[in-house]
Amino acid sequence: MDTARLNLSELTADELASVLAPLGLPAFRVRQIGKWLREGASFDEMTDLPLSLREELKNKYSDGTLRIISKLVSAIDGTSKYLLDLGDGNIIECVLMKYKYGYSACVSTQAGCRMGCTFCASAKAGFGRNLTAAEIAGEIKVMSRDAGVNIGHVVMMGVGEPLDNYDNVVAFMRMAHDPDGLNISYRKMSLSTCGIVPGIEKLMKEDLPVTLSVSLHSPFQEERARMMPVAKKYSLDKLLEMCKTYSLETGRRITYEYAMISGVNDTASHADELIKLLGGTLCHINLIPVNTVKGTGYRRADKIRINAFRDRLEKGGLAATVRRAMGRDIEAACGQLRRKAIEERNGAEAEE
Ligand code: SAH
Repeated sequence: MDTARLNLSELTADELASVLAPLGLPAFRVRQIGKWLREGASFDEMTDLPLSLREELKNKYSDGTLRIISKLVSAIDGTSKYLLDLGDGNIIECVLMKYKYGYSACVSTQAGCRMGCTFCASAKAGFGRNLTAAEIAGEIKVMSRDAGVNIGHVVMMGVGEPLDNYDNVVAFMRMAHDPDGLNISYRKMSLSTCGIVPGIEKLMKEDLPVTLSVSLHSPFQEERARMMPVAKKYSLDKLLEMCKTYSLETGRRITYEYAMISGVNDTASHADELIKLLGGTLCHINLIPVNTVKGTGYRRADKIRINAFRDRLEKGGLAATVRRAMGRDIEAACGQLRRKAIEERNGAEAEE
């Protein structure tokens, strides 16, 4: 994408009409262009416009489409992972998953991440910049067009911390909800945060019925702060207090993400503390066998241990499930592909 030019895909229908007014187009042409843009088409793909108009648009504006650098398809479950070029040297990744209920997109909200969680690949590849709302929507559009499928669910669990890019992420959710655009219902959107307490509070006041996921990973403040530096700023006490308020105010169940790391956070005392902290609240615990990331030294807890942990939580009255890993053969997790691409590029530059 050429960042120097006005990106038409970021405009509302009214804004588009006023930007295109100097071209003197009939109203139906402007509507045609708007429809294509909402679908994520490039100017070249707008085949029902005269060629001369497509050329004129190309010379003057950007269509905001994201270029696919590479795509990996899992032989196990068909999960596809895309590496996309933002046009300014930044690279992002997103994933398309097929479930029984339809297709779901896992999108990145930032090119990189500033949160520095020790188990996560995203932080290790550095921070580039925030994504705009149109770029986040662009991830869904590019995958939907490439795979030829309709995407009905979106999870903000790719690279980046959504609440560290608050305004753009909220604008993205509203954009994705637009019935003339992606038309994704708020209830089918999940926002995952490492626990930025003021961001959760702000989100609560937006009155958007999306699912809130909170990455917990430990029920002990000190241990959590070692794994997730954000916890030094926003303590577990403050976070859980906010989560309880969020559930009470919105009536919505919170999902807690819990990556099971062998010998670190998978003991019976961890389960018992979770029961103590979360018992009686409206929540669901998602146990994720941790993805091994180079340089972290963490190992995945074994299946028997994970199931025993889940059973202990359930006995203690908490709803818990073990998340099925998707696309394990294509490194579909959390910034791993982006990290590899950046390392390869930096390696190549170093060799030059
Ligand atoms: N920044 C947000 C969203 C992106 S990460 C957040 O922290 O929630 C999406 C989820 O993947 C988070 O729960 C995150 O903690 C988890 N995650 C990161 N690295 C992981 C790994 N190596 N294995 C398993 N889960 C991981």
